[in-house]
Amino acid sequence: MNKRTFLKSAAILGAGGLVLPQISFAGSTGSELSAADDTFKQNELGYAFNALEPHIDATTMEIHYGKHHSAYTKNLNSLVKENNVAEKDIIKIFKNVSKLPAGIRNNGGGFYNHNLFWEVMAPNAGGEPSGDLGKAITSDLGSFAKFKEDFSKAASTRFGSGWAWLVLKDKKLVVTSTPNQDNPWMDIAEVKGVPVFAIDVWEHAYYLKYQNRRADYIGAFWNVVNWKKVGENYQKALSV
Ligand code: MN
Repeated sequence: MNKRTFLKSAAILGAGGLVLPQISFAGSTGSELSAADDTFKQNELGYAFNALEPHIDATTMEIHYGKHHSAYTKNLNSLVKENNVAEKDIIKIFKNVSKLPAGIRNNGGGFYNHNLFWEVMAPNAGGEPSGDLGKAITSDLGSFAKFKEDFSKAASTRFGSGWAWLVLKDKKLVVTSTPNQDNPWMDIAEVKGVPVFAIDVWEHAYYLKYQNRRADYIGAFWNVVNWKKVGENYQKALSV
């Protein structure tokens, strides 16, 4: 193969999404990772892979977004087709998820949970929530400090892989956690509610930088929380 032929082949493979996108994009659209007709798409990251440094490292972000989340999304799209699931609303799928194959529960959760996770983080973030969310945390959960303690505990004590959540349940904020890729929308969830905020405590979310020190990762995570976005999620949840 001469140079020109090689470049042409590479360009064709790249356009087909087979070679280039998973490594080369930074803050680009998730749709590049999926076939155009796929129902479920990764949200844009909205910031560069290294934007959350030093709290969350660039390599973890690149693999987490470009490999893990990408795979959940791809698998979900394949599974809904294979199982003739016509429903396009992932929330409605979750509400009946116990009646569907386990792969849809696992990959559907992985698809949705990570889309939420990316948006509740941002560079130059952290601090404390203000406005209605800040007030609701104080009135429903005691204080911001108490919430931070309870949420960190839910995240650190979740055995194995899973997520900790802040959800709105009967118009009140509640802290909970789920195993694997389950989430509080699912009919199988112990505590059901509308998710407004979450942390991923799978080892793939922190192991490269923090190894076994999950508590250090959770501590660092507070520095990248996008409270503005979490506040918007809270407002939306009030109207669900
Ligand atoms: Mn993850």
